[in-house]
Amino acid sequence: MVFLDNASTTPVLPEIQEIINKYNQDVFYNPSALYTVAFQINKDINKARQNIVKRLGGRPTDNLIFTSCATESNNMVLKAFIKKNTKALVSMGEHPSVFKTAQELKNNGYNIEFLKLKKDGTIDIEYFSKVMTNDVDFISIIHVNNETGAINDIQKIVAIAKRINPRVVIHSDGVQAFGKIDVNVSRMNVDLYTISGHKLHAPKGIGALYIKDNKFVKPLLNGGGQEFDLRSGTENVSGIMALDKASEIVCDNRKEIFDRVTSLNNYIRNNIQNAYIISSEKASPFVLMVSFAGCRAETILHMMEDEGFLIGNGSACSSKKRENRNLSEMGYRPDIIDGAIRISFSRFTTLQDVESFVKSINSKVKEYIEKVIK
Ligand code: PLP
Repeated sequence: MVFLDNASTTPVLPEIQEIINKYNQDVFYNPSALYTVAFQINKDINKARQNIVKRLGGRPTDNLIFTSCATESNNMVLKAFIKKNTKALVSMGEHPSVFKTAQELKNNGYNIEFLKLKKDGTIDIEYFSKVMTNDVDFISIIHVNNETGAINDIQKIVAIAKRINPRVVIHSDGVQAFGKIDVNVSRMNVDLYTISGHKLHAPKGIGALYIKDNKFVKPLLNGGGQEFDLRSGTENVSGIMALDKASEIVCDNRKEIFDRVTSLNNYIRNNIQNAYIISSEKASPFVLMVSFAGCRAETILHMMEDEGFLIGNGSACSSKKRENRNLSEMGYRPDIIDGAIRISFSRFTTLQDVESFVKSINSKVKEYIEKVIK
């Protein structure tokens, strides 16, 4: 099988699996225990924390806490920082872990405004400048959109926001950005930044939240006081150590992989037939959304699976209703939304993979159009 759904998850690298085994079998101790071997694990966790802060472009005074996933980090941030008597801005292009949390808070009476998207999937900065007032004290804007790859200019957005209200707290979901595009939390000047292990070749079940200046974040989980009392629960030690190593590997090779993935993405853009390219040319090269208007994404997805290719679909189906918040916001017609598929790449994707994929999808879609549509 050729795996072209790397925005959903990525395989664990063999050297990472070795680290996972080490911390689950050889040195499996609870880091809170008082014996020396356990204390060493505690030190390893703190070293991993410092390493990841550094790779994110953070400063030594910044903090990072480990969570069970990006969904947890995002929930934690929104529930801690959106307050009853103030105003929050959240983009329409967020992952459901941010969007649904914000929706729930709004339904409970919180003052949240959702920011519109432009045709390229990024937020409309002009509109943002208008709604950004000095009573806005929390903002959440995704860095790279998980469906279209659209990249928000977080540095510019933060500069505008902090000029208007220097106390505003700004969060960005960097799950599809870290290790893929250039990320520097200090340059962007964000206060909170979410990452996830399984999108960068660490296992599922480990996430993290970068916290500028060690700001206090209200905990979601109370208990034994781990992670500076911000996230109780015995640490997922093997996951933390895997995230440290995986982030080292992806960051060390980031530029080379970015260039390679860009050329694979361009190959598909230039050679795919009967498709409308949704992802902007300025989007992250790791995600490419295209649509075969008039065809159903799920049908194409299953057809391609039979041919040996795994891809993602763009539209989420909730029972019989087909919808896609990102694409609707971007102004696409229902037939484009219905036919949208997501192709996403990793360091393991080869030119041969994409050449054979393009050949196969071109012929299968042509057949489908001739048989079913015409
Ligand atoms: N945010 C974005 C942008 C994502 O792409 C994802 C996963 O699809 C998540 C958050 C959730 O990540 P996790 O599976 O670690 O909860």
